[in-house]
Amino acid sequence: MYENGYGAAGMYYPRRREFLFRVVFALTLLAIVQLDHFNVNLGGEIAFTSLYILAGAYLAFSVLTYFFYETLSLKGSLAWAVAMVDVFSLCAAVYLCGGIESYLFLFFGILPLIGGIYGGYKGAIYACVLCLIGFTAIVIFDTQQPSAYNYSQAIAVRYAYIAGSTLLNIFIVDLVLKDRNRLKIFYEISQSSSKSPALYNVLKEITQRMAEILKAEVALVFLHNEEAGTLEAQQPSLGLDFMSTARLRLDAVAPGVLSNSFRNAKPVLVSRRLSKEVEILPFAPDYNVFDMVACPLVARGKSIGLIVLANKLNRRGFRRHNLTLTRLLAPHISVFLDNALLYRGSEEKVAQLTSLIRVVDAINTVSNLDQLYNLALDVIRGLFAVEKALINIINYQNGLMETVRSFGYSEEYVSRHLTQPFESVNECYVLRHDDTFVSMDVATDVRCPNMLVDPETRSVLCVPIRSGKKIYGILHMASRYQNAFDEEDATLANAIGEQIGMAVESAQLFEEISRLAITDELTGLYNIRHLKRVLGEEVKRSIRYSRPLSFIMLDIDWFKIYNDQHGHPRGDEVLRILSGLLQQNTRDVDTVFRYGGEEFSVIIPEVGKQEAHAMAERIRRVIQEHVFPYEDDQPGGNLTVSMGVANLPDDAEEGDDLVEKADEALYRAKQTGRNRVCTYSPGEDTPGLHPGHPSLLWEERDADSPGYPPESGNGLGDGGRRTG
Ligand code: GH3
Ligand code: MG
Ligand code: MG
Repeated sequence: MYENGYGAAGMYYPRRREFLFRVVFALTLLAIVQLDHFNVNLGGEIAFTSLYILAGAYLAFSVLTYFFYETLSLKGSLAWAVAMVDVFSLCAAVYLCGGIESYLFLFFGILPLIGGIYGGYKGAIYACVLCLIGFTAIVIFDTQQPSAYNYSQAIAVRYAYIAGSTLLNIFIVDLVLKDRNRLKIFYEISQSSSKSPALYNVLKEITQRMAEILKAEVALVFLHNEEAGTLEAQQPSLGLDFMSTARLRLDAVAPGVLSNSFRNAKPVLVSRRLSKEVEILPFAPDYNVFDMVACPLVARGKSIGLIVLANKLNRRGFRRHNLTLTRLLAPHISVFLDNALLYRGSEEKVAQLTSLIRVVDAINTVSNLDQLYNLALDVIRGLFAVEKALINIINYQNGLMETVRSFGYSEEYVSRHLTQPFESVNECYVLRHDDTFVSMDVATDVRCPNMLVDPETRSVLCVPIRSGKKIYGILHMASRYQNAFDEEDATLANAIGEQIGMAVESAQLFEEISRLAITDELTGLYNIRHLKRVLGEEVKRSIRYSRPLSFIMLDIDWFKIYNDQHGHPRGDEVLRILSGLLQQNTRDVDTVFRYGGEEFSVIIPEVGKQEAHAMAERIRRVIQEHVFPYEDDQPGGNLTVSMGVANLPDDAEEGDDLVEKADEALYRAKQTGRNRVCTYSPGEDTPGLHPGHPSLLWEERDADSPGYPPESGNGLGDGGRRTG
């Protein structure tokens, strides 16, 4: 069989060479016939007529195959048929030349042809040598021949003819097959790479085909990673397992057989055949290479990598022509790889744009920032070859730069290094210069004092998260390689940063609007709208877990007097001060609301009636003791409040009821002299009291309240009595 695995079957010759071969063959036949005229005895009776006919027919056959080469498309079985005609003609010619040893000639004549077809040059030569020995034996031992001289001369002529034509045949077949297989292989690679230009497929084709052509056990392609300065073995490789291939990463600068070959753009051949002292290359833990062909791959004037073919000790070694062949094929391989790399680049571009569009889309669709941060980091993970990234958002309220989301950094690391106080936030390069920060080698970079001390990080890319002029934070990503980021990365990261910035801005605006909707503008407390929601939740919880829930309703005493005497702006100031006092004197779990006007309420979870009363009493005392501006003019010389306390489950079963009962208790506090706390008790229900809708109660007051200012009697105020 031929070295490349393709046998004689399916062979076809380029028509010019094939034609030449046949014409030479036919003319030789005629020349043999003519030998008789030169008195060369061929050792038998020559069938002249038949030989002429054979030569003529064969010539016609040659011309026919020449002209109908395309039409017949001499491939496969047809090629076999044509080859059989050749062999048959040869046999017939030998036979027709006559002589008693014709059959032997036949046998020895075909031998080199068969040897050539199946054994290449070597087979043909061996067969020829065998023939020579055979013929010599005939000459020596066949003493019956009348003229030994003529006879041996004839043998020599015939032998020369057969050997010559056989070798010519072999030469042509070999040349043609080589060309054809090379073309065929690259036709196939180019076919499959145009069908699927993905790098993976192209690499698979190349390694498989090259291993096939060179009979190599291992075939793999190294690609140059410019950023890392390494030559990296690519998956898939042939003959090496996944992990071994993944680990094959060579320093492109350090001396070594492969890196030298790459740097100097010089193919190398390491072979046992050529040198006894072979450098053994440990490819993988259990794989020592004894024979190797490596050829640099150059595309568009740039070295892109190496193709390497290798064999172990137990395999046949490589020879010079393997190196030559690889060198011939290398430009084609380079083009295929270059195309695949370009294709990958364009795919990446598309992926980048798609991701960017996804982020942009997300701004309109993602309902909260958490989701957006997750999405943004997903996108970054997919777009940049980074191991670590984080999103830091500046909290302008507490002056911290907070890491809101990250990957690659340990949780402990994030909390230790990345919640930075505002002073160092200001030191941040990105925030100081309002610009992208790219550090190609953090070890030597002093531009940013916030640079993370992280032994695994070599390059850093930070961009602002901004919308318009306002910076909301930074987007940071880190790579373990030097020079990991280029300008394109920076542009893309900036675009992503801007998109995150816009999302953060709109989310913060949304949060602000939501906050405003439930906040009372004057006091900053929650408003009645929020009270309804919180109370609903607390009541549910209280009922589900059978826990107490208390509620305080508070109303300033004689506030109309204060307003009338000092004006509304000063009254507002009192409301603000009072709000502060309420918040300071309640627990974190309690919630203070401005119910409306000068009425406040507090939701007190997990607290029973008695305890709630005590809490209210403490609040009352604090307010009484607090010195409000101009409070001397109030009845009793003090600004005071009255409070009603109600409890769930003691007094009410649901929220509205609870508010109503607290309001009733407040009413009693007003009735019984103000500046006091009353808890709700059903027995003391006030006749004529119409609770009405709690939210409206504070708006209407009755003038003939029994709690009218006891000693002031200044005629001010409208009393504490409520009507519906
Ligand atoms: P009482 O002890 O019976 O509660 O007497 P009062 O004067 O406080 O009576 P009432 O609770 O009916 O007082 C309502 C007054 O509160 C009317 C209004 O002057 C004042 N007020 C209500 N809302 C505001 C506000 O937003 N700002 C100011 N400055 N005053 C307000
Ligand atoms: Mg009041
Ligand atoms: Mg009131």
